[in-house]
Amino acid sequence: MNYESVAEKMEYLNLQHIPSILQDLTDTAVKEQQNPLAYFERLLSLEIEFREERRIATSMKISGLPKGMFLDTFDYMFQPSVEKAKVSFLSSCDFIRQKENVLFFGPPGVGKTHLATGLGVKAVEMGFSVIYYTVEELLSLMKKRSDVPLLKQRRQSYIKNALVVLDELGYQAMDRTETHLFFQFINARYVKGSVIITSNRSVKDWVGIFANDQMATTAILDRLFHRAHIFNIDGNSYRLKDFQLMQNGGGKPMVE
Ligand code: ADP
Ligand code: MG
Repeated sequence: MNYESVAEKMEYLNLQHIPSILQDLTDTAVKEQQNPLAYFERLLSLEIEFREERRIATSMKISGLPKGMFLDTFDYMFQPSVEKAKVSFLSSCDFIRQKENVLFFGPPGVGKTHLATGLGVKAVEMGFSVIYYTVEELLSLMKKRSDVPLLKQRRQSYIKNALVVLDELGYQAMDRTETHLFFQFINARYVKGSVIITSNRSVKDWVGIFANDQMATTAILDRLFHRAHIFNIDGNSYRLKDFQLMQNGGGKPMVE
């Protein structure tokens, strides 16, 4: 059999994986006297699997999502205030289809970034476009383009992606200009696309993040909470897990 000529034709058709496994797979099929249809099915399935894996790897890279944080590696026993059923429900990514938001509140180390990223990974796997920024990164990006009206920024990643994961709201207070840019961002996404936000500050303290501007804070909260799934994580820091074990568990570590 002339594998080379078949492989060349496959390459011509832009099949990316099959040409390299053609010989092995065909030899086995002949040896095992496989049904031709089953053989084709296997060949095509492997090509699809290969492309799917590559698509996910590329989208993960583009998204900028932190590495190594997945929903199925989250330890719910350690953080009982996180409702597993609620996370599972969100993992269908229906909230993205409905343009709803997800908000994670809690002190440092309780898994806000982990859960936000885990949902982002799910969204990538399901084929949604996803981008991850810390609030600081988003603001510096928006500042660079602040002379372009937002209406003309349609193609910017923080507007066009189906899901924006925005991490670490509240670590730094914003000035008036930054507060205005942040409002513009929230307004641009309102009912048009989902946002996941993590924050270490509770809502009653948000006015302090937004330059003590009560009007802007209310406008941001209004839009963000209009359709939102909210998690209030109230537990110990996973980063200090071993430290707490050494202290015989229980109690909040003094370091925080
Ligand atoms: P936060 O964003 O709330 O400060 P992170 O999500 O960054 O906290 O969590 C800190 C570290 O601990 C990360 O490496 C994360 O993967 C891990 N982590 C936090 N909570 C859990 C958990 N319940 N199960 C497994 N790993 C966790
Ligand atoms: Mg975090």
